[in-house]
Amino acid sequence: MTDLLFHLPFRYEDRRAISSIAEVLSGPGAGFVGVVGRIEQLSSVFVRKRGLSLVRGVVRDDSGELPVVWFNRPFLPKQIAPDALYLLWGGLQPARASKSEGKREKGAEAPALQLLNPTCERAESAIHGARIAPIYPTIAEFSTVVLRRLLDAALDRLDLAAIPEHLPEALRTRHDLPPIGAALHYLHRPPDDADPRELAARRTPAQLRLIYGELLDFQLEIARFRALATRSPRLHRYRIDEKVRAAARAILPFRLTSAQKRALGEIATDLKGPHPMLRLLQGDVGSGKTIVAALSLAIAAENGLQGAFMAPTELLAEQHFASLDRLLGGRYRIGLLTASAPDPAARREALARGEIQIAVGTHALIQEGIRFARLGLAVVDEQHRFGVAQRRLLQAKGERPDLLVMTATPIPRSLTLALYGDLDLSVLDELPPGRSPIATEVVSAARRRGVYARLGADLAAGARAYVVFPLIEESEEVDAGSVAELGALIRDQFPDVPSAALHGRLPAAEREAILRSFAAGTIRLLVATTVIEVGIDVPEASWMVIESAERFGLAQLHQLRGRVGRGSAPSRCVAIHGRLSEEGRRRLEVFAETADGFRIAEADLAIRGPGELLGNRQSGVPLFRVADLLADEEWLARAREDAHELLARWDDPELAALRARIEARVRRRAGALDAG
Ligand code: ADP
Ligand code: MG
Repeated sequence: MTDLLFHLPFRYEDRRAISSIAEVLSGPGAGFVGVVGRIEQLSSVFVRKRGLSLVRGVVRDDSGELPVVWFNRPFLPKQIAPDALYLLWGGLQPARASKSEGKREKGAEAPALQLLNPTCERAESAIHGARIAPIYPTIAEFSTVVLRRLLDAALDRLDLAAIPEHLPEALRTRHDLPPIGAALHYLHRPPDDADPRELAARRTPAQLRLIYGELLDFQLEIARFRALATRSPRLHRYRIDEKVRAAARAILPFRLTSAQKRALGEIATDLKGPHPMLRLLQGDVGSGKTIVAALSLAIAAENGLQGAFMAPTELLAEQHFASLDRLLGGRYRIGLLTASAPDPAARREALARGEIQIAVGTHALIQEGIRFARLGLAVVDEQHRFGVAQRRLLQAKGERPDLLVMTATPIPRSLTLALYGDLDLSVLDELPPGRSPIATEVVSAARRRGVYARLGADLAAGARAYVVFPLIEESEEVDAGSVAELGALIRDQFPDVPSAALHGRLPAAEREAILRSFAAGTIRLLVATTVIEVGIDVPEASWMVIESAERFGLAQLHQLRGRVGRGSAPSRCVAIHGRLSEEGRRRLEVFAETADGFRIAEADLAIRGPGELLGNRQSGVPLFRVADLLADEEWLARAREDAHELLARWDDPELAALRARIEARVRRRAGALDAG
């Protein structure tokens, strides 16, 4: 029953003011008002259809009278006592359809006003008006009015002091927060002297109490979950000696950036450590994650362990296979495992016997028939494309293998914790040298011709270019057709430039052949869908046109743009858009303004809100009831600090209640992951 008390208002309305009817009649004649009076002249006017009724009446006080209309309150006339005082709260409306309003002459009478659908309750026990009224999110068919009544009654009947308080008193005192019972009372029945602006900003002590409590729970849960995940000691031992280091040096085609060195150092430390590695490598597009993974896989191979590298699409798997084969193929045996790779049975066997030392593949890697002889290190590329469950399946292919997951989705730090809180974090915050900045332009479709003229000139001079079209998932087939068509149209404009259309419906072999030709420069214009969004690496490509740019999300635009600017030639990205919504315009503004993935992510989050990023797609991620990771970052930091302090004395009997609550949540989270 006390659970009901955690159904909290999501906003408040300041309904404290009560006006006399004379004031209402001489006022601005619009907006919401509260009046107190007797109700007279009630009549049910008509019932047009089943379920639709209209009740008319008049509310009268000492200063005047005001007509009232209610919809769908057929029982109201029976409930009204003629001598009692009622409080009505509702919106004002002109009483007649205002057919003469526009022509009204100066000095003519103002149109009569009426109250439309006001709340109506005994004045002495009013809860809907004459106060700061809580507005509740509806539950099924319970309206906010019903819920307000329900919660108000619950507040009288329940013993708020009996609601278990898990927050240690010292922490409440430190942050000046009320006990949970008092906080809930305040939120359901804000006192008359509460500040509505503070309530709207979610900054009353009562709200902060709930926000902080939620964030602290969250921090503790993540930390305890991580402790559970890394509790088991590692089975594989790595030696990282001079021989391994020499092998790594021989592999390196360039000098590592200092960010890459730091990440590799963190990985090496993990591999030598007592527990299996659980690490997230986060780096903007083009920051050079692949080489870090390649060197980690080499360390595993040098130690007689197998490695797995899982990518989200066949195209990517094939490309990674090609680049890993180029880097590591001279020393280790590398195998491609995808749905369409030839000789699947032979490859599976080679993997099971340990002959394939590094397996590169798609979801095919986590299928049931796939066995490794001795899987030591599992790498997951573009983690955001996989669920946690798939990551788990890959881990299950070995005995507590080390895990490195990589993502180019730049996520603000506060969200990284929410999404990947069970992982250690390495960040590549530096691009390899020699990159030239990408000139980004956002233009309307009316200027398309000029864009393609410039593109034509650069193509004639030898440039390599992408033209990207959006693809609507529901109609992939249709769109693949239209990409082929549009592709043909565009390619016809440049008859002298070798070109191709690329989309997900092409057979893998054909896609691979096209990409290989593009990488080699025998194809120089690629008209493509978002299949090129992730990971494709052709440093010579220096032009990108994004068509219908308004149909892409900000993060996606950024990923796309990351396909150019990977070499030393100056690069250009032109986003062509049709009609823009307000949000679309803001997205494209940010896109043109910055190429910094983290700033893009922050902006994206501010435009879309964290809900989408934290959506159901990521299983095991709690959605907060009151806290907002973006708006409450400061409280997140406080909660994090306090969580550390609590965990240092986690066995303290004083923390028993908190401990029980958190450990139960940790078990649920672990269970959800195992099941998912
Ligand atoms: P991403 O992080 O997007 O996966 P990649 O690993 O594909 O980036 O690297 C992008 C490009 O940068 C590749 O062509 C890669 O060879 C190159 N590269 C990576 N690290 C360096 C470096 N330290 N110096 C020079 N080039 C590098
Ligand atoms: Mg990559």
